[in-house]
Amino acid sequence: MNAPVTFSTALSVRDQFPAIPAGWHYLDTAATAQKPQAVIDAITNGYARDYATVHRGVYQRSSDMTLAYEAARAATARFLGAASADEIVFTKGATEAINLVAYALPKDGRDRVLLSALEHHSNIVPWQLAGYAIDVCPLTADGRIDLDAAEKLVTDRTRIVSFAHVSNVLGSVLDARHAAAIAHGKGALLLLDGCQAAPRLAVDVASLDCDFYALSGHKLYGPTGIGALYGRAALLESMAPWQGGGSMIDRVTFEGTTYAPPPGRFEAGTPHIVGALGLHAAIDWVEGIGLPAIHAHESALTRAAREALRRTNAVRLFGPDDSAGIVSFAYEGVHPHDVATILDDAGVAIRAGHHCAQPLMDVLGVPATARASFAAYCGADDVEALVDGLKRVKRIFG
Ligand code: PMP
Repeated sequence: MNAPVTFSTALSVRDQFPAIPAGWHYLDTAATAQKPQAVIDAITNGYARDYATVHRGVYQRSSDMTLAYEAARAATARFLGAASADEIVFTKGATEAINLVAYALPKDGRDRVLLSALEHHSNIVPWQLAGYAIDVCPLTADGRIDLDAAEKLVTDRTRIVSFAHVSNVLGSVLDARHAAAIAHGKGALLLLDGCQAAPRLAVDVASLDCDFYALSGHKLYGPTGIGALYGRAALLESMAPWQGGGSMIDRVTFEGTTYAPPPGRFEAGTPHIVGALGLHAAIDWVEGIGLPAIHAHESALTRAAREALRRTNAVRLFGPDDSAGIVSFAYEGVHPHDVATILDDAGVAIRAGHHCAQPLMDVLGVPATARASFAAYCGADDVEALVDGLKRVKRIFG
């Protein structure tokens, strides 16, 4: 517990994040990421300088804004390795992206979805609401989705397999290509919930061979209220709209309506225009650093945190040692909320709770965990502060 945290990593970007004051240790990025100045500037300019609606205006400002909005879509497509910008639907976030697929995907005579025991509620409840029968893939002892078990659970009744690419609680990384091979081997589709993966791993939907990919802008250093769904062109084409309104139509009469092609078909109403600009700036910022560098940085921090926590001899660690940027733990005999409150007094912000993964808490046999999660702007000082804060926990609870 007393050993110093001795390592350094190459990234040094914290001064680009105005909402992280000196002495405050933000370890809750898995809930939402802080924003670099470049994203804040893009949002400010979007409202204070360039604002107008998209797609409808005939005046110059509006057509410029339409170009900027569609440029954000093209940037998102490039970022994910999609073949075309038309494969990117803007949504409110990953939650809405998964709901969209659950509601709009034709079941084609197959009514089952395979989820895993570590899924976020956003990747459970939509399938329940949409009337799917759910099969649950168990986890390996170290907290990965057990793909050997998945192989047996996918049947010709399975319409879709929907797995987290990175777990928001355990940080475990899915072997997505293997999952795709298992799903496709039985004629099922694969949706990857990329909410935690997109900010941490380079994603290429073509090489992952997934059919859908969901992400949230706010976890990717961008604004809240914007996210994206990647869907293979032919699949999006096969899906009926799930919400009606402006923008998603071709021709409306009282007798009937025809719909716009994807992605517009799935974007009813005035979109989150400035959110898309902010997402574009966030993608540019992440690409400027490079996801391999971000991943290496977070992995070094995660390894150091796990080692330091292990040395306390008072902590139960969850998840695999190669978890991506996220460390969940339980402090022996102390409720995670108490741990988080004491750490908050020490200027360390972590998350405590079920992390919207109650079925996973049941599997782990705990009501809640404490969770520290890292980002590009974190450093060795944050790990030190976490470990120092746990010394306070020890002093207070003995
Ligand atoms: N899936 C995972 C793995 C998540 O971590 C989250 C957010 N915690 C979500 C889905 C839902 O994301 P949002 O609330 O941004 O829609």
